[in-house]
Amino acid sequence: MTTILRGNIIHAPVFGKLEAVPRGFLVLEDGIIRGLYAELPPEYAACPVTDYGNRLILKSFADLHLHAPQYPMLGMGMDLPLLDWLHTYTFNTEARFADAAYARRVYRQLAHDLITSGTTRVAMFSSRHTDATLILMEELERAGVTGYVGKVNMDRDSGVAQEGTEESIRETLRWLDGCRFAHVKPILTPRFTPSCSDELMAELGRIAKERGLLVQSHLSENPGEVALVKDLHPDCAQYWETYDKYGLWKPGTLMAHCVHSDQREQEAMAASGVWAVHCAASNVNLCSGTAPIREMLDRGVHVALGSDIAGGDQLAMNKVVTMSIRASKIKQLETGAPFLTVPEAYYLGASAPQEWFGERPGFQPGDSLHAVVVDDGGLPEPVRELSLSERFERSIYLMDKSCITAVYSGGRKVLG
Ligand SMILES: [Zn+2]
Repeated sequence: MTTILRGNIIHAPVFGKLEAVPRGFLVLEDGIIRGLYAELPPEYAACPVTDYGNRLILKSFADLHLHAPQYPMLGMGMDLPLLDWLHTYTFNTEARFADAAYARRVYRQLAHDLITSGTTRVAMFSSRHTDATLILMEELERAGVTGYVGKVNMDRDSGVAQEGTEESIRETLRWLDGCRFAHVKPILTPRFTPSCSDELMAELGRIAKERGLLVQSHLSENPGEVALVKDLHPDCAQYWETYDKYGLWKPGTLMAHCVHSDQREQEAMAASGVWAVHCAASNVNLCSGTAPIREMLDRGVHVALGSDIAGGDQLAMNKVVTMSIRASKIKQLETGAPFLTVPEAYYLGASAPQEWFGERPGFQPGDSLHAVVVDDGGLPEPVRELSLSERFERSIYLMDKSCITAVYSGGRKVLG
């Protein structure tokens, strides 16, 4: 069935460049984009049009690093460094997800919060609990969030959240067998090297290879963590090699943070097609530092953005985008590396992840529609008529849920 959306369409098909089509038309066939037009081609003249008037139609956001079971502790423990924060708050909170009814309530709220914030795609950590992870996937599917979720593996140094090695492997297989969702897929998720024994890492590498699964984890977030990894794996010159050793460092692997990744580690990412997921708010909140994003981009590393709740304190990705800009300006003061512009940071939060999902950046024919409709009419009245790029910039900085009037995910209308 052919449907058409009309409005001020803005997307970022190229890094650093916006394309705006005033009062343009997005033509869809069963939720798949057929074309983006300034004038409607005559063959579509009889098709129904959903007209969003003067509103903006933007590519929706993708959050490629967040921890679902940390949602209840959003905005807590912000005065602690990473390893203390994990042991004081995080592991205790995650242990609560042994309770399926609690998981259902929290994950339903999280899924709704994502969609109403304009995030339609995710790569997400669950807890170690198989049942709660399946509930999370079900709730995302129900709300219209698409992407990947991982049952977390953690058989070492993880407090009350820890699992046994055999249990971790057995439950991972049970979880994989239970994943039967149309839009939410499994991704293998060793929490990070300090949380996983060598035996577990080796087994996860074997499962990843055997089943062709993607992998997500953490890398070089904090100096204390980097030193700990060095102690645990004296045979590895650098942190990334502890993943490579077990077959977990491969094309499409997502590595959150990479704050302290030097030239050699960045080059290893670029060479292997490993993605860096930049979580600027979390890195500042936990005093981890500011990641060298411009350096990574210049070296050809794929970069996406993550809210990293609850190290990050904002779930809404437009806030994550603007935080990335602020962090890059701090980095510029330290190193002179040019800061991220609004179109560049938006690209990382909306367009770049499309490539990770196997699509092309922006609204492209053949890709399913992921879009957010923004009504900026309630923002402060400007002194003159604004251009579309000015309205876009202002919306990225200022919009909240009250501005988001419709959301499309994977070709389906999921809000509005
Ligand atoms: Zn994380």
